[in-house]
Amino acid sequence: MPASDRLSAIPSVSAILDSLPVRDLLVDHPREVVLSAIRVLLERVRGGEVLSVGAVSPSRAATVDAIVSRLPAEVALLEAIPLCRVINATGVVVHTNLGRAPLPAEAIKAIAETAGGYSNLEFDLEKGGRSSRSVHVEARLLALTGAECVHVVNNNAAAIMLSLAGIARGREVIVSRGELVEIGGSFRIPDVMAESGARLVEVGTTNRTRLSDYERAITPETALLLKVHRSNFTITGFTGEVSTAELAVLGKARGIPVLEDLGSGAFFPFSTAGIPGTPTVREALAAGSDIVTVSGDKLLGGPQAGIIAGSKAFVAPLKKHPLSRALRVDKLCLAALSATLALYADPLDASRRIPTVRMLTETIEAVRARAVRLVRRVKALERRSPGDSAPFTLSIVPEMSSPGGGAMPEVEIATVCVAVSHPLRSPGALDHLLRTGSTPVVARISRGKLLIDLRTVGDHEIAALADALHRVASAGH
Ligand SMILES: *Cc1c(COP(=O)(O)O)cnc(C)c1O
Repeated sequence: MPASDRLSAIPSVSAILDSLPVRDLLVDHPREVVLSAIRVLLERVRGGEVLSVGAVSPSRAATVDAIVSRLPAEVALLEAIPLCRVINATGVVVHTNLGRAPLPAEAIKAIAETAGGYSNLEFDLEKGGRSSRSVHVEARLLALTGAECVHVVNNNAAAIMLSLAGIARGREVIVSRGELVEIGGSFRIPDVMAESGARLVEVGTTNRTRLSDYERAITPETALLLKVHRSNFTITGFTGEVSTAELAVLGKARGIPVLEDLGSGAFFPFSTAGIPGTPTVREALAAGSDIVTVSGDKLLGGPQAGIIAGSKAFVAPLKKHPLSRALRVDKLCLAALSATLALYADPLDASRRIPTVRMLTETIEAVRARAVRLVRRVKALERRSPGDSAPFTLSIVPEMSSPGGGAMPEVEIATVCVAVSHPLRSPGALDHLLRTGSTPVVARISRGKLLIDLRTVGDHEIAALADALHRVASAGH
């Protein structure tokens, strides 16, 4: 159809608003949302899309009908589910899709206090003049990491981007082929490198990289030796990689700094709690890295942030880099980060009060006790409203959970789950019912069973979780 005919077939907004089904839609939905949805659909028609089914040359009336019939779905899209609280029963402690670290109560309080009023964000109360917003976390980070200088940005991706742009723009960065990682969707080391303006120089092979591979690749153009933590995968079998310490010796000898993207980078000594595999930031720096970058909301257990720690010669100039302003952290993040870091002053406080650290280090007995409480509570609900439940069974089973979220790919921690089964519903159907209830519960299905992993469920969530399970047991009765 010629474009002129097509345009003449386009109805007006008011013609659509006047139709009876749309008037009904306006009873339940705000006019602005319905108007927005109409405009989205009209834009598609203008763009050449034929909405009315079967019509080769759609009339204006047919287009109105087509738009009206699609409107409820378009309105539903615009009113998509708001951000809401969910119960994480997956056992994955650092779960990126579920918002990573739940904050400690101390951090939540700090956010509330900072959010509701003015603060000394960039104000020196002693001198009465301007100061830097990072002072509120710097002293704590220096003490915890042993670094000479630290800088905090929006997330770890930003920390890496800024470090590469600031130190290696227009020059070469050497990375092992075994460490060219992708951390979910858009974060891929080669792409971040290209965007920063640094040139990637790959060395070694996927499974083995030797020190001599790095050595041979060094040219007068080399600005950095980069080491990336394999956060979400492992390489096993015939493998070989160069340790931070070896790389640091080479870097020192040739006058080239070593940047280590630790990914999660622990602040708590998880290895002493029997969880191997993740060095602390302090250990990475002590091993010789000049700059280390980590996330704030993975194993640290704080708000989304990226921490750059290392020697003053490399980190201090990054604070003045033009990208720093675009990547800077807001006051609520600084309030939460400062309060979370304060808890690390005493490892016992860290393991009791920082939810991420607590969940990872909690004893199996404590997890089992929560499973027992949950089952008792659901049974009590069934006794209170008998008759409306099908023979729904809950059994307590030993299982394994994984820290996840690009934290410790090879580590599994013993846990206790409640397996849920129902004679009339598949595990997938039960899972869907739990996810779509008023308090959404995200569980996991393993070997044909729906599992509620109590390692990632808080004591305060047991009542809501029991209600959700009881509702699922009674659904359709
Ligand atoms: C998670 C991760 C990142 C990205 O960190 P964000 O804080 O999500 O930006 C980068 N590198 C590694 C190795 C990671 O594990």
